[in-house]
Amino acid sequence: MLYLTSKTLSNETTQHLQEQQQDVNGQSTFEKQVKRAESLWGNKKQNGKKAFDEIETKLKKLGKVQGICNYCEHNRSEQIEHIYPKSLFPNKTFVWENYLHVCGQCNKLKSNKCKIFYPNSTTEQELKGLGVLPSPNEDLVIINARTENPLEFMILDLAGKTFRFVPINDDINSREYKKAHYTIDLLHLNLDDDLVRYRRLATENLLLYFEKCVQIRETQNFEELEKLVDNDFLPLDKSQTLLSEQNRFFHEFKKKIQTSPHPTVWEEMKRQREFLPKTKILFEALPEALKW
Ligand SMILES: [Zn+2]
Repeated sequence: MLYLTSKTLSNETTQHLQEQQQDVNGQSTFEKQVKRAESLWGNKKQNGKKAFDEIETKLKKLGKVQGICNYCEHNRSEQIEHIYPKSLFPNKTFVWENYLHVCGQCNKLKSNKCKIFYPNSTTEQELKGLGVLPSPNEDLVIINARTENPLEFMILDLAGKTFRFVPINDDINSREYKKAHYTIDLLHLNLDDDLVRYRRLATENLLLYFEKCVQIRETQNFEELEKLVDNDFLPLDKSQTLLSEQNRFFHEFKKKIQTSPHPTVWEEMKRQREFLPKTKILFEALPEALKW
């Protein structure tokens, strides 16, 4: 889970969202607002196809790797998720900053579950069902990837090879610990064995691609280059110069790094490189990769 850089919507789409939201906000009671929000959301494509096409396209591009779920980073993203659930915060149903693009599995796990902190406190309260909120507070416990950097709250343990997320602050009463712990727990980020296994696999693959990048730069002739890439369905074009072929393959592997699922793994390889001997050597050989 990574922080998502923001993108701006067109004026037309922004206006459409505002109009829909005003309609919801104009309802006389909280219950009516929730009903109206559900109904307008259910018909969002009929009411504003162009606007929601733009929203979905831009949401898919918010993450480092396009088109993967912003939560699990594994499955393809296919649904718009409301960070603040619309059944509890109808006033945020048509708010661009309240959207993520996630897979069906994560959307189901998160559903309308929501915890917030009491004002000026690290005590959490679970918000449930319809009715006047117990507090007007909007201080979410779940990490909000549109406004917060998840990696300031948790670390993906590569050095210890567990490939699980761990809260950075180990004081269980701290706000930071609670945010990390709740997010990890709610989204089954550690519970799902497949996810953990895929992160291990992503780490191995990224290391392999990275090593190839370094080795490609070091090749002295076509034969050496051929040995590095012969299994990677990339025929060598010997009518080109060695440098140009090196560059071509280098960029193929760089692209593999930049489009691999689990982009958090790559971010953590950078952050934890001092504790990962092989990774450290590769970054020393190719420091420009720190910017990838
Ligand atoms: Zn997911």
